[in-house]
Amino acid sequence: MSSEGAPYDALVQFLYQAPIGLLQASMDGTITMANPMAAQLLMPLATDGALDNLFELLQHAAPQLREQAAATAASDTVTGEPLRVTVQAGPHRQVLAMRLVRLDGSTLMASVSDITASVQQQQRQLAARLRDAARTDPLTALPNRVAAMESLTALLGRPAGDHTPPFAVLFINGDRFNRVNTTFGQAVGDEVLRLMAHRLTRAVRGGDADGRGPLTIARLGGDEFLVLLEGLRHADDVHGVAQRLADTLAMPYGVGDRQVHLSASLGVVPGALASGDAEAVLQDASIAMREAQRAGGGRHVVFVPAMRERAARLGSLENELRRALAEGELFVVYQPIVSLDGQADGAGVEALVRWRHPTRGLVPPVEFIGVAEETGLIDALGAFVLDEACRQFMHWRSELGDRAPLTMSVNMSRAQLARPALADEVRQSLERSGMPATALQLEITESLAAQDDAVKARLHELKSLGLRLALDDFGTGYSSLACLHLLPVDVVKIDRSFVSQVESSLHHRVLVEATILVARSLGMLTVAEGVETSGQAAVLGRLLCDKGQGYLFARPLAADDATRWLQQHAGNGNAVERVA
Ligand code: C2E
Ligand code: CA
Ligand code: CA
Repeated sequence: MSSEGAPYDALVQFLYQAPIGLLQASMDGTITMANPMAAQLLMPLATDGALDNLFELLQHAAPQLREQAAATAASDTVTGEPLRVTVQAGPHRQVLAMRLVRLDGSTLMASVSDITASVQQQQRQLAARLRDAARTDPLTALPNRVAAMESLTALLGRPAGDHTPPFAVLFINGDRFNRVNTTFGQAVGDEVLRLMAHRLTRAVRGGDADGRGPLTIARLGGDEFLVLLEGLRHADDVHGVAQRLADTLAMPYGVGDRQVHLSASLGVVPGALASGDAEAVLQDASIAMREAQRAGGGRHVVFVPAMRERAARLGSLENELRRALAEGELFVVYQPIVSLDGQADGAGVEALVRWRHPTRGLVPPVEFIGVAEETGLIDALGAFVLDEACRQFMHWRSELGDRAPLTMSVNMSRAQLARPALADEVRQSLERSGMPATALQLEITESLAAQDDAVKARLHELKSLGLRLALDDFGTGYSSLACLHLLPVDVVKIDRSFVSQVESSLHHRVLVEATILVARSLGMLTVAEGVETSGQAAVLGRLLCDKGQGYLFARPLAADDATRWLQQHAGNGNAVERVA
């Protein structure tokens, strides 16, 4: 029946030559038919060079195939998913996919195809995805440091020519970002970082009018971001972009029902000044960023090479200060605070830190307190001064009796007040020394006390320990007389710059008088700082200032000298227990 036989032969021909392996086997695995492609693909599995039995061929790849086949119902697939078989064909590894169907009670039918190429492609895609993941910051989905450094390296490696449009490297860092984490917690901090990333992206990409070319925005880690601006129309255009970024990053961040206030500083390296490799350029950009932070933050500073030297100096100062703390090069001097007639009855002292540097001699605090604040060393430094001052206070108490100072003042810088643990640490210092809290006075500067709700909360915590707070350097900062009543302070210290002009300038005398009047009306004591002449002391006395501190009475004195000074000036048996 050729009319039926012809299509059937054609089908057999087709199956025989199909680019897919086809074979038939009986239920015991004996191969009854295999087309050339099946033979070619499976031959490497045949140890004895013959394709006799399917189950034996697949003994390693699928040892349980025989049982599975027996358990499969007619016209069902034996293995749910196609079976994957790896074969070593000469030097090549091939991956085969085999689909095995039980046709009926006695026949198995298998198709075999070579899926090596598609498996390799899958692997390549997977590798690419892994590579992307390794180059992406999971928090913000921006490129990460690795990716940023690659882009920067590529940018720097481009041949410099007159026609190359200018580029610029912008290093961005949140100002005091740690405070966000310590005040609101890590989750809020993370959200703020995401918002920063979002604002950066929008602000830089939105500025297409600047005619910029390709752009990289990356998160380097922590609160550090990097922007590479390429194809600037004019090198100076970077100022506008940097300012726009600083402005947008300084807007309050709404996280849940909170408002987080945070600014950011930018360090800019113009392409023309980019020298060295990517690390070096990044370093320069971060040096400029630090300058922006030192200048108050929320702004951008363009790098100039002279900044490197200053940064190196500060860096080595940091290392030296670390060593100074560890090796006991720091010590505390004490300056008496007295009645304005020079009597030390009921006097107090202020603890002031000093650094005996092995080669540079005595280093004044103005030269290292700032570095300590910037580097976080202020916490250890402050703890040292506080411990030392409390210990000295108790020592005087037992040595000098009623000639001992009644109060001990210790300076707190604003970085210390940012720490939630501060009140606890102060309480522990008091407990260790046995010093009564009422004898301790912490001096804070007005600018910081007035600004920040978190700081105010911290001040109330400190006050609840029973100690007293003094507003240092009054007159130099932001808070005015009108706000004095808002601050939980007991003492106002009138800044030296006012005291020094109290005789010569009517303006200053009026301000000092007003300060004293307002402070008195609020029940606060007043201390004049930096009293150098008896004339100043006399005027201050007439204005009813409570106390004075300055070279006229005593310089800051090493502990031993302070002991002698106290023995000579304090007590005299008629000491009234006045609190200074
Ligand atoms: P301050 O708290 O205003 O300290 C008073 C400063 O005025 C001291 O300078 C003192 O030596 C100086 N002084 C006192 N009387 C006179 C005077 O009659 N004339 C003049 N011209 N100056 C006088 P010092 O010790 O160099 O301290 C400078 C600043 O460093 C302090 O200002 C304080 O803000 C900070 N500081 C000092 N010790 C510490 C400390 O232990 N911790 C912290 N956080 N800051 C400290
Ligand atoms: Ca002070
Ligand atoms: Ca002061």
